Amino acid sequence: MSVSTLAADQSVCAPLPVLGRGVTVPLVTGGDVTYAALDYAASAPALQRVWDDVAAYAPYYGSVHRGAGYLSQLSTDLFENARRTVAEFLDCRDTDQVVFTRSTTDSLNLLAAALPADCQVFVFETEHHASLLPWRAAQVTYLDAPSSPGQAVETLERALADRAPYGPALVCVTGASNVTGELWPVQELAAAAHVHGARIVLDAAQLAPHHPVSVKDLDVDWVAFSGHKLYAPFGSGVLAGRADWLRQAEPYLAGGGASRKVTRRTDGGVDVEWHDTAARHEAGSPNVIGAYAIASACKALTEAGFDTLVAREQHLIRKVREGLADVPEVRILSLFGDDAARVGVISFVVEGWNSSHFAAALSAEYGIGVRDGLFCAHPLVRTLLGSDPQTQGECGAPEAAPGEKSLNAIRVSFGAGT
Ligand code: PLP
Repeated sequence: MSVSTLAADQSVCAPLPVLGRGVTVPLVTGGDVTYAALDYAASAPALQRVWDDVAAYAPYYGSVHRGAGYLSQLSTDLFENARRTVAEFLDCRDTDQVVFTRSTTDSLNLLAAALPADCQVFVFETEHHASLLPWRAAQVTYLDAPSSPGQAVETLERALADRAPYGPALVCVTGASNVTGELWPVQELAAAAHVHGARIVLDAAQLAPHHPVSVKDLDVDWVAFSGHKLYAPFGSGVLAGRADWLRQAEPYLAGGGASRKVTRRTDGGVDVEWHDTAARHEAGSPNVIGAYAIASACKALTEAGFDTLVAREQHLIRKVREGLADVPEVRILSLFGDDAARVGVISFVVEGWNSSHFAAALSAEYGIGVRDGLFCAHPLVRTLLGSDPQTQGECGAPEAAPGEKSLNAIRVSFGAGT
């Protein structure tokens, strides 16, 4: 299998044109090649449609919420409409809030900052660092990597059953792994969480670009995702879900926009009344273009239809996996096995090869951009590689000697706009 074979296969023509398709790059071996950026799990290229929408809006954009001028009013409408579009895209409950953030990392840190006192947090060790690390100020239980979706649910149920049966609790789980691409049983995990009086936040950074996400059907309390993985440009993200914990919490950032009323006290201090709306956690001038771009991407994906997008992506996944299976030295990394449901994220090692050198050679000699390293999920990748939990092995790090286990891996990832 080669990238040119994939591109020539008319049945897999991308339904969503992405910016930068057809970019030509020089090869070290001489000549040029059409570059294949297969690193969508890191950042997907923005859709042409998103770029066009942003360009059309650019002459009109202005500061939101506070300006009396026409452009400010227009921008405020577009910003608030973007919130509604995201709520529809995620099939939120009427009472949910959509907070615009900088990214998934930012969204989960915001939720971590809004946890009620004494909240217990449960998280699998397999999570991306963005969903593994923000909770460290709370009482966190790290759950071992499961070997099947069913075992994930059992592990969580056992841990929740053992917890003190009072006080708030939160489960944080990813919808699709950024390492294996495997889908996690979100609906079942949410049901388990709720039976035990816990809430659940879904890290949908890798799920939302590939599958429809329904807050109502999955029955999750919050969802977080990033614009730049959903075919919008960098710089914007979303935390959507229940308003109560967010409303009770101190603002994530203190400042204008979050505050409804600020008064000087007679003792010289300052009193603040914070907004109860999403604005409470959006202090400062918000990223209006970023929110608009996310909404544009949500609309483009919805209009293209997830049935079409999923079918195309599954076709690509099969082709890439079959191609990799033809190479005896390749070992694909997986927690749940070959039959697992998955998105277009595939990590592997090539026996006898340094993963970083292999990834560099793919780019320099073939014009294929992949990623090497531990993919910001160090405990998971080390478990999958069977390496010592203390080893190094991030991108570009010294690798295993010939005959030794690889210390990091190669990841190829793609999506509907590939
Ligand atoms: N969660 C998962 C599963 C991810 O794959 C990533 C990024 O790779 C993140 C969270 C963090 O996303 P961001 O870097 O946009 O904050």
